[in-house]
Formats: sequence, structure tokens, C-alpha cells
Amino acid sequence: MTVARPMIVGNWKMFGLGPSLEEACKTAEALATTPSRARVGLCPPATLIERMAGVLAGSAVSVGGQDCRAEAEGAFTGDVSAQMLADAGAELVILGHSERRSGYGESDALVAAKTEAALRAGLEPIICVGETQAERQAGRTLDVIRGQVMGSLPDVLKGLRFALAYEPVWAIGTGLTPTLQQIEEAHLALRQAMAARLGASGEVAPILYGGSVKPGNARDILHAREVGGALVGGASLKADDFLAIVRAAD
Ligand code: PEP
Repeated sequence: MTVARPMIVGNWKMFGLGPSLEEACKTAEALATTPSRARVGLCPPATLIERMAGVLAGSAVSVGGQDCRAEAEGAFTGDVSAQMLADAGAELVILGHSERRSGYGESDALVAAKTEAALRAGLEPIICVGETQAERQAGRTLDVIRGQVMGSLPDVLKGLRFALAYEPVWAIGTGLTPTLQQIEEAHLALRQAMAARLGASGEVAPILYGGSVKPGNARDILHAREVGGALVGGASLKADDFLAIVRAAD
């Protein structure tokens, strides 16, 4: 079952300095003038969270982090806890992004622990799963993403608000996208896995698609079966592109 209200979230990755907040403001102003059916979020680098939350206060755009540490505090130089994100004004947090799974060796168990930490801090987690190109070529896509759901979604998600993001690793930042049929096949398998894992909560949480979503392909993707929104990387950096994707959900 696809949720009624789509969710469109931008992941700015490690891009953006103070002046980039202008793009976030432009998005919020456009949504104030012409509201969208979608829930909209932006996840800037940690250095911009507090400032973005300040300029977007009272707007239709929520702010999120891109990762958090599982521990609440401690001697973890350079890391940021979920509580710190919430303290800075974040409401969302992306967890288990493939750039963290591959770049930092994050396991499903660690993603589950981070998810628990996010929930404890009152954040809404967006948990990412997705197969590599080699896994798809080997015909293992559905097994891989089902396994990630089973390992990365902790029991405590039951009854709480969260989203899953299906992000084929080979589609992120490459301009390549799966066919609509491949997206639907993956999302249907994820829906079943989430329901098996979490019962009723797994039946209703939105499943976002992520991987080279652009203004030109957003409408088709967002209207595919079981697609409950989009996680948008590169195209979220410019308000005009991001807004075009948000509008494609209407
Ligand atoms: C992402 O980083 O989550 C992502 C989907 O990136 P892009 O849209 O640039 O492929």
C-alpha cells in the first residue's frame, strides 16, 4: 500500500556553504505560495543544519541530518549524535546511505543501532537499502535488499514514523536509473519484507526511490506502484530542480 502523502527529501551530501541556504529559502517560499501535496525535507551537511533550521522555521520544509552516531555522546572525534542533530533543529536523518555503507563499512547491524538512536532522539529515520551493480548482474537484487531490510530495521520502529529509501547503488549520481518495472519489482519486494519484519508499521511506511531522480524522470518514478516519494541527491542542490521534482509528486 502506498501512503497518501508522498515524501520528497533532498540529500545535499558534502555540498553547501552559507550562501547555499538561499536555495533552501527559495524552495520554502515557493511552497508557501503554492503548497504541495508532498512532505518536503532537506538534509544539508551538519555544518548547515542549525542555520537551515533557523531560516526554514515555520515553513513546509523539514531539515535533516545525513548520518548520526549510534551512541548519545562520548569520545568519538568528528562524529555527531542523533541528539545533537535534534538539538540543532533536525527532524529527519538519513541512515545507511550506500556512501556510508561502502565508504565506512557500515553494516546492517550498525544501521539498526543508529536507527534506534535516531528514534530515541525523536528523529524520523530514512533508512537506505540498495544493491550494487554486481549484485544486480548476478540476479541477487531482491535477496540483497530484503536482507538489508531484515538486518537494518530494528523492532522499535513498530508504531513510529520512518521511511525506507530504495537506492540502487549503481544509480546514485550516475544518471542511470532502473526501468519503472525494476523499480516496482524492488518496491513490492521491499513492501513485503517490511511487512514481514514490522507488521502493520511495515505496511504503511513510505518507500522512497533514490538514484538520479531529475525533473525529467520524477513524474514517472513518483507514480510507479509502491513509490512513496523520492530521495534526491544532485538535483536537490538547486531550488528550481528540486521544486520541479516536488511538483511532480502532485
Ligand atoms: C543520493 O545521494 O541519495 C542520491 C540519490 O543521489 P543522486 O540523486 O545524485 O543520484
